[in-house]
Amino acid sequence: MRIINLGSSSKGNAVIVEFADSSTIMFDCGFSHKQLLRKSVTGAVVVTLPEICCLTHDHKDHSKGLADLQKWGVEIVREDRVEPFFVKSFDGVHDTPVKGFAVRNSDTNEVVLYATDTSYIPPIKGLTHMIIECNYDVDTLRENSFHRFKDVVARHYGLDDVLGYLELCDTSKLEEIYLCHTSSENLDPRKALTEVQQLTGFQMVPVLICRCLSATQSSL
Ligand SMILES: [Zn+2]
Ligand SMILES: [Zn+2]
Repeated sequence: MRIINLGSSSKGNAVIVEFADSSTIMFDCGFSHKQLLRKSVTGAVVVTLPEICCLTHDHKDHSKGLADLQKWGVEIVREDRVEPFFVKSFDGVHDTPVKGFAVRNSDTNEVVLYATDTSYIPPIKGLTHMIIECNYDVDTLRENSFHRFKDVVARHYGLDDVLGYLELCDTSKLEEIYLCHTSSENLDPRKALTEVQQLTGFQMVPVLICRCLSATQSSL
């Protein structure tokens, strides 16, 4: 599986997932047609048209490009379905209705989780790839945004949540973890990478951060 992060911040969120059989899906589309084209040129990534786009919620940084996608014939998915991919959706907790997704490609046996803008993610079995929000760590958030502490914690997944989730989940098939929707001010990225890697290190699972406004992903 190839995961191409087109953006993961309040300025726009979109991730392209290419399965091993080359079929492609997208999670969220917070970028306009023009922005997507610019990213594809400057980031030297070929943005192929996905078969479906799973939309988490209506906040503009996740949904801005929907009309363009629909014009191009890409189907927008907001709930469960079985074709052409097995999509299992779940309700998250945010300041507006939000969905998270686990998508299985039955031909390749890959299962990818995409969960962002939520303080709740249910355990899901058999994940091979996780794209999971890691918006803040408690210390940095408390230091930088004390007045917003409760709001952020109620609406977003933080580092401790990610660590707890990994402990709760069956991670035996996990191949990669992408930390997404990371706040540039409320998360210490080195701490996040170190702590998640420590937890999963013995299984040799690479942990990466979807950097803001980067066209590809990279580890620190
Ligand atoms: Zn967001
Ligand atoms: Zn949101």
